[in-house]
Amino acid sequence: MSGTIGHWLFYAIQKLRRSQSLDLFSQIERTPYLDQAQIQEIQWQRLSKLLDHAEKNVPYYREMFRSLGIRSSDVRNLDDFSKLPVLTKDIIRERQKDLIREDVPFESLYKHHSGGSTGVPLTFYRERNYVDVAEAGTYRNWRQSGWQPGEMVAFFWGGDKRFHEMPKWQFRLRQHLRRIYQFDPFFSGPREMDEWLKIWPSVGARIAHGYASTIARFCEHIEKSGKFIAPLRGVFTTAEKLFRSQRDTISRVFGCNVYDCYGSSEVQNIAAECRKGRMHINADFVVLETEQSSLGLANQAKPFLVTSLWNYAMPFIRYRNEDCGSLIEGNCDCGNSFPLMELNISRVSDNFVLPNGRVVHGEFFTHLMYGSEGISTFQFHQTAPDHITIWVVPSVESADARRRTLLSAVAQITALSPEKLTVEVRETDNIPLSSTGKHRFTRSDVSQSAV
Ligand SMILES: [Zn+2]
Repeated sequence: MSGTIGHWLFYAIQKLRRSQSLDLFSQIERTPYLDQAQIQEIQWQRLSKLLDHAEKNVPYYREMFRSLGIRSSDVRNLDDFSKLPVLTKDIIRERQKDLIREDVPFESLYKHHSGGSTGVPLTFYRERNYVDVAEAGTYRNWRQSGWQPGEMVAFFWGGDKRFHEMPKWQFRLRQHLRRIYQFDPFFSGPREMDEWLKIWPSVGARIAHGYASTIARFCEHIEKSGKFIAPLRGVFTTAEKLFRSQRDTISRVFGCNVYDCYGSSEVQNIAAECRKGRMHINADFVVLETEQSSLGLANQAKPFLVTSLWNYAMPFIRYRNEDCGSLIEGNCDCGNSFPLMELNISRVSDNFVLPNGRVVHGEFFTHLMYGSEGISTFQFHQTAPDHITIWVVPSVESADARRRTLLSAVAQITALSPEKLTVEVRETDNIPLSSTGKHRFTRSDVSQSAV
């Protein structure tokens, strides 16, 4: 399908959906390239408007300002703002109703869920406008690669049941009309990937977007097949950590840059990598702060506090999203003036409770695999206090490196507990995704309260 027809279809379908996202995209497309003072002014205007709205229309924040003895208009700069209380996941669970705006009918809001690090789902609300602006933000990320609206996007994202229920011809037609072709990571075994590879040339994708692990596995599948694949403009990964080896594989197979994007279900479009590989904070979408760690250590990743400038349905103001990272001083020479950050953790990690009651954060286990060769993906699964299975999807090469990594991992885990701990290594073709569609590097069936 030619670029022009794709472009025309894309606009027509957006009109039919009554989506504002293309209009919003044209409004925000150039913002990253303004100078820093202009960007700060835009951010401050949006933040002031949000605080005013929250005080007027959201009971939780009205109460917060009252108890502080101030009005939202007393918050005159980011320094004042940084003294407002932090919004935690516990507060959201306890005060959910009070966090929702009162001045529009509740039925007009969209309900969403996300997983939490404790496995307790978080429910939150947003409006149609947020959905549109989030899409516009995604288009802006894609645009960096040279993508034009209407060019086909290969979308590695899970699982809309309706797609599996409709006849194949209908599914394909629908995807071509939408200009986004879905490859479902919920069904991504070798057999499905054979099918993906077969239809790939007719899809005509110019960029890909989705789960890093699925795209990397698909790339390995393509390499194994020995088939030639036309290069893409760019690949955009999100929703889980992008490992160095995955980045290399994707870049090699699709012959393009990989842009890692950072966002979460609650607050989308927090940051995205530029073509120079640096992560820029979308300062017109969020205010991103870091919280002083209780240990007071300098130069360490700190918990993020994120304020979503577009969600008026349920404002997230200074929200501790349980990710960490650092804010980076200085500029990037890519032309984008948005501030820089580094992301340290961007996924759900389980805590492992050992027989002696010791709790080990899931990051411990994933670090054992950092930079290792010969392992396509993995999962540490604790099935009982004294039993951990390491599931490994091996890649074709580097069997020796894989063996060494795994031996060392087993030794380091066994050493965690003075009591007997069985660590079993098992190879598999495929590690199933969680019910929310994310790959989990760590997974424990042992709850902390059970020990
Ligand atoms: Zn840059």
